[in-house]
Amino acid sequence: MIHVFDTRHLGRRGIIAVTAAETNEGLVLFDAGPESTFDNVSAELRASGFATADVRHVFLSHIHFDHAGAAWRFAELGATIYVHPRGAPHLLDPEKLVNSARRIFGEDMERLWGRVAPVPHERLKILQDGDVVRLGTLEVRAIETPGHASHHHIYEWEENVFGGDVAGVRIGNGPPVPPFVPPELNVEWWRESIAKIRALQPRRLYLPHFGVVGAGVSEHLAALDERVARWSEWFRDQLRAGADEASLRGGFAELEQGELRGSGASEAEVLAYEQADPSYMAVAAAERYWRKYHPEEVGG
Ligand SMILES: [Zn+2]
Repeated sequence: MIHVFDTRHLGRRGIIAVTAAETNEGLVLFDAGPESTFDNVSAELRASGFATADVRHVFLSHIHFDHAGAAWRFAELGATIYVHPRGAPHLLDPEKLVNSARRIFGEDMERLWGRVAPVPHERLKILQDGDVVRLGTLEVRAIETPGHASHHHIYEWEENVFGGDVAGVRIGNGPPVPPFVPPELNVEWWRESIAKIRALQPRRLYLPHFGVVGAGVSEHLAALDERVARWSEWFRDQLRAGADEASLRGGFAELEQGELRGSGASEAEVLAYEQADPSYMAVAAAERYWRKYHPEEVGG
C-alpha cells in the first residue's frame, strides 16, 4: 500500500508531497519534506494509523530543503536515510548548504524550511547508481538521474517510480514542467534522465510536486522532455540577444504561466506551481548552465 501525504507547506495543500510505502519492515518514505512541515507529516501519519517512529527508512531524491529538510528529524527517531554519494556530505554537515540557501532565501529561510541539523553518520546510507535495498519483501532500486541536481536519484520498486524533481512538477490539471533551479541545472543530463525513467516503463510515477501520475506516464515524460529542451532554448536565445535579468524574469514568468493556463491550469493552480517551483529561480539556473557549458552559444 502506497500513501501520498500532504506536507501542507506554508498552510497550502498540493504543493509538497511525501510518498510512503508500507512494508513488513516498517514504513518507507520517499523524500521527507521540509523540516517546517515535520509536524504536519506526523499528523498525516497518525491519521493513517501510524506513529512517526514507524518510519524506518527514508529515501531522498536529492538534498534540497523541500525534499530532505526533515530527514534529520526522522533519523533522530531511528530511521535510516538513503542518499546519493554527492548529497551525503551536505546531510552530515549542512553548513555550506545553509549558507548557499541563505543567499537565495535570506531571512525567509526558517519560515520556509524550518530548522537544519546534521544527520548522524550511523543513520546515513550512501547509495550508488543501481544499488538495490531489500526491505522485507520490498526491493528499492536507486537510479542516478542528474539534471535538476547533480546528486539526484529516482527510486524504483515494483511497478512504481518515485521521480523526485527530475520527473517534473505537475499540479492539479496543469501540465508537467521542469523545475530549473541553480546551481546544477544540466539540460543534456536531464533529458538522459527522462529517457532512463521512460525505459523503466513505470505504471505509476510519484511526484514530490505533487502526487501520482497513473494513466499517461509516457505522455507526461514526453511533454516534460519537450519543455526541458524548449525552455532552455528560450533562455539561450534571450541571453544571446543580451536580455537583462529583469526582462528574463518577466519574460519567463509570462511564458510559463501562459503555458500553464493554456493547458487548463486554474489561477489557484498557477499560484501553486509558483510556490512549488518559483519561476525566478529558472533565470539564474539557465544563465549559469549556458555560460558554463555552452558559452559560445550565448556570446561568451
Ligand atoms: Zn529540487
